[in-house]
Amino acid sequence: MGSWAESPAAASRWGHYAPHIFGAIIASAVLMSIVPPPVPLELRPLMSIAIVALMVATMVENRRHDRGMCEVCVSEMPLNPAQAAESKLRRLTFVHLVSERQFGMIYLSFILGAMIVPFLVPSSLRIGAFVISTSAAASVAYLMLSQATHRRLQPWCPLCGDQGGSGVDQETPAPIDSLSG
Ligand SMILES: [Zn+2]
Ligand SMILES: [Zn+2]
Repeated sequence: MGSWAESPAAASRWGHYAPHIFGAIIASAVLMSIVPPPVPLELRPLMSIAIVALMVATMVENRRHDRGMCEVCVSEMPLNPAQAAESKLRRLTFVHLVSERQFGMIYLSFILGAMIVPFLVPSSLRIGAFVISTSAAASVAYLMLSQATHRRLQPWCPLCGDQGGSGVDQETPAPIDSLSG
């Protein structure tokens, strides 16, 4: 099983659809808590572990996808990426917010807190805690989706310019300039 490491260029489909799969796992976890599946009570912890394992594996695949070139990403490249970046501005903004150190720390604390809270509160508050942890998990799925969008549209991301990064010229010179010059 050394093949993944040897070819970082090939990302898996699982990695490509990781944000969607992650979202689906959360949705099914929510559904299962509302309509308990017909499994014996003693198997429930096993199921929780399986769900968490699946989530972790999906996040690992997501990271692997982020590092390589993905065929699906290439084939799904929008014809007008600049316009796509504009219409996905909310996702791009979210990625930039989380990558900022201060906000990133606050966000991470919120996620960790939201995951722990259901175990700490009395059972009367469990629904509230559950809502918080579910929305935290959903925001992680949204972040994964946003990061995938950002990675693809980065050359056209209007917010990347502000970070003084690569110094890539953000403005495409208008054709009229070269004509009159
Ligand atoms: Zn992809
Ligand atoms: Zn950016």
